[in-house]
Amino acid sequence: MNDFEPTSFTLNTIAIAHTPFQEKFAVPRQPRLAPAATGYIELLPPYDSAEALQGLEQVSHLWLVFMFHQALPDPDQPPRLRVRPPRLGGNTRLGVFATRSSHRPNGLGQSLVKIEGIEGCRVRVSGLDLVNGTPIVDIKPYVPYADCVSDARNAIASEAPEPVVVEWQDDVYQQAELIQQADELELIALVEQCLAQDPKPAYQTPSPERQYGTRFWHVDVGWHYPEPGRICINRIGRDSDSRKS
Ligand code: SAM
Repeated sequence: MNDFEPTSFTLNTIAIAHTPFQEKFAVPRQPRLAPAATGYIELLPPYDSAEALQGLEQVSHLWLVFMFHQALPDPDQPPRLRVRPPRLGGNTRLGVFATRSSHRPNGLGQSLVKIEGIEGCRVRVSGLDLVNGTPIVDIKPYVPYADCVSDARNAIASEAPEPVVVEWQDDVYQQAELIQQADELELIALVEQCLAQDPKPAYQTPSPERQYGTRFWHVDVGWHYPEPGRICINRIGRDSDSRKS
């Protein structure tokens, strides 16, 4: 009989995710929903060697195992057994183990992303759903024959959510084009793909006057809902410039 019964473990950060997302708001709720969400995974010592990635050039996708470092459980509070997934409108509760909520017993998350390239001890990836600076605790290759389940079922989240319509105010689109070109960012596609996921909680019905915003890289983006299910991007600017206007 195995009498080893560990109750706690220590995890070390082996890499950091560099992503466009400076805030949690408007980060896609799952990976691969926004292919333009590109960034890189930077290995940290003692793993910061190309040796640790040897063979990965033969692989198309990666599992990132990471810490939800901006939503770690409070050890002084009772554990959350049920959570309110945004997918169900944010008001319905489900068992934590039936969801992919960021509020988890050990703060661990997992995301499947596409490898775009390997540069020394950095892996460029796309389809990210992680806040910039997220600590990565393990990296594993996707194994199609084992990880792809053709008859898998999840009646809570059977399909990717229907995208909402995203429009730009004309002058704001022109400004986005200028920033995109000057700063060499895939800004317009990223903003459109992330906002099409409708970042606001589904139970909110915002008035057309209500303003929303977030930051992609160093760019502030603001929008409103002229009517439910339609987003109009009406502010953009580097850093905090657009929030002042
Ligand atoms: N794919 C992962 C999983 O299933 O474990 C993450 C799913 S979770 C629903 C994704 C959301 O977590 C994002 O939309 C963002 O709001 C939030 N998030 C991303 N990185 C985070 C971090 N480092 N700390 C806390 N929350 C984070």
